[in-house]
Amino acid sequence: MISTYPVISGKYLINGEWKEIRETANVINPANTSEVVGEVALCSKEIVNEAIEAAEKAYKRWSRSNAEDRSALMNKAAEKLANIIEENVTLFVRENGKTLVEAKKDLLRCVEIMKGGATELLNWWNPEVLTGTQKVQIRRRARGVTAVISPWNSPMILTFKRVIPAILAGNTVVVKPATNCPLTIMSCLKVVAEHFPPGVINIVTGSGKVIGDTLCSDSRVRTVAFVGSTTTGKDIMKNSAENLQKVYMELGGNDPAIILDDANLDEEAIKRLKTGILRASGQVCSAIKRVYVHKSRYEEVVKKLTKEFERVVVGDGIQPDVTMGPLNNKAQFDYVNQLIERTSRSGAEVVTAGIQLNPETWDKGYYMLPSIVTGANQKSEVVQDEQFGPVIPVLPFTNIDEVIELANDSKFGLRASVWTENEELAIEMADRLEAGAVFHNNHTIFNDLALDFPGLKESGVSRETRHCGLEFFTDSYGFAN
Ligand code: NAD
Repeated sequence: MISTYPVISGKYLINGEWKEIRETANVINPANTSEVVGEVALCSKEIVNEAIEAAEKAYKRWSRSNAEDRSALMNKAAEKLANIIEENVTLFVRENGKTLVEAKKDLLRCVEIMKGGATELLNWWNPEVLTGTQKVQIRRRARGVTAVISPWNSPMILTFKRVIPAILAGNTVVVKPATNCPLTIMSCLKVVAEHFPPGVINIVTGSGKVIGDTLCSDSRVRTVAFVGSTTTGKDIMKNSAENLQKVYMELGGNDPAIILDDANLDEEAIKRLKTGILRASGQVCSAIKRVYVHKSRYEEVVKKLTKEFERVVVGDGIQPDVTMGPLNNKAQFDYVNQLIERTSRSGAEVVTAGIQLNPETWDKGYYMLPSIVTGANQKSEVVQDEQFGPVIPVLPFTNIDEVIELANDSKFGLRASVWTENEELAIEMADRLEAGAVFHNNHTIFNDLALDFPGLKESGVSRETRHCGLEFFTDSYGFAN
C-alpha cells in the first residue's frame, strides 16, 4: 500500500486544537483503491459534545464582534487559502476522484465564497430603517452554534457555502464532513480556522449516524445546515423537530433537460449538454439525470450525444488528459453498475462509449465509461431514481404539456433546463416546471455565488436566494421607540 498522508490526517479540531484518537478509518483513492490517501478519525458522541461545548463558549464573544472585523478576518483568511490552492488540488483529486480541472475550480470557488461573503456582509449587516407612524429598525443577530453536515460529492463548495456565511454572521460551527472525502476540507479549514478565535470553527468526523444524531438532538445547536441525500435529510428533520432547530436542507435531485424541436444543437450546445450530464462523473446533485427530446430531434440528439460521449477520456483525474474521473466510492460504483445491468435486462438499450486512458490499470479504480439509455420507460428506475453516475436516459416527447408532466413526474425538484431558441417559451415553461432553478440552453450553476436557489419538493426546504446565504444564518428582529 502506498501512503503519503497529508498533515491533517486522522484528526479532529476542537477549540483551536487538533486532536487524535485511535479509532480511525482509511480514506481511499478511488482512482487506485490500493492507495490510502489518509485517515479519518471516528469521533464518539462524547467528542461531539466537547465540540458543541467549545462552539457554545466561543459563540458568546464571537457573536458580539463587529461585522467589519469579521469581514476583515475573512478576507485575510481568503488570501491565505488562495496561496495553498495548488497543493490542495492534488489531495482533493486523490481523495475524491474529480479531474484536476474540476478540483481546482471547486477550490477557487471556496476562496470566491469567502471574499464575496466578506464584502456582502458589510452591505447587508446594517439595520434597515422603516419609517411610518413608528420608526422601526430591522436588526440582525446570529443564531448560535451551527452544525454543518456535508456530502462526499462536492465536499469543498458545499461545506464552504455554509461555514463561511455562518461564521461571518457571528455564529460558531461544528463541521461534519463526509467520511469518504474529509481531508481537503480539513486541510483548507485549518488555514481558515487559524484566522478566527479558537472554538469558532470545530470539525468532527466519523459515523454520520452517531455524529448526526448527537448534533441534531442537542438543544445547544440552534441551526443545522445539511447537504446530502433526501433519506438522511428526513432523519435529520425528525431529530431536529425535538428542539425546533432551524434546518437548511439541500437534498437529492433528478434534473430533467428538455430539448424542443427548434433547439440549436450545434457542437457547443452538445458539449454543454454533455457537461451538464457528466460533470464529476454525474455525481452532482444538479446534474442532468433525464433528457427529454422532441420526437422530431430524438435520433439526432442520441447520435450527437453518443459521438460526444465517445470523446470522453476516463482515467485517474490526476492525469491532465483525463476528462472524467472514477466514481468516488465502492457503494456508488456498485449501485450504478447494477442499475445499468437491471436497465439492460428490462429491455432498454444501453450504449456505452468513451476512451479508457489506461486499460491495464482500469480495474484498480472505480472507473466507468459513460452510457446512454434509449427505450426506457418513464416509470423505470433509471428515469425515476437519482443515478448519480455517468449514465443518462434519453426519452422522446410529442408536445409541451406532455413534457412538462413528464419532467414534473418526480419526487425531486432541484433544477431543470429548457433548450430552445424561443426565450419567451422557455420562461413560460420555467413557470410550470417544479424546480428551484431553470436554465436556458445550458444546465449549470449561477455564476454569481451570492445567488442560490435550492430545490423544491424532496430536493430541499430552504431558500438562500441572495446575499451568500447570510440571511439564513441570522434572526432578524425589530427595534422600535
Ligand atoms: P448522505 O446523506 O449519505 O450523507 C451526507 C452527510 O450526512 C455525510 O457527511 C454523512 O456522514 C452524514 N450523515 C449520514 N447519516 C446521517 C444522520 N443520520 N444524521 C446526520 N448526518 C448523517 O449523502 P451522500 O451520499 O454523502 O451524498 C450524495 C447525496 O447528496 C445525493 O443524494 C445528492 O443528490 C445529494 N446532494 C445534494 C446537493 C444539493 O445541493 N441539493 C448537493 C450535493 C449532494
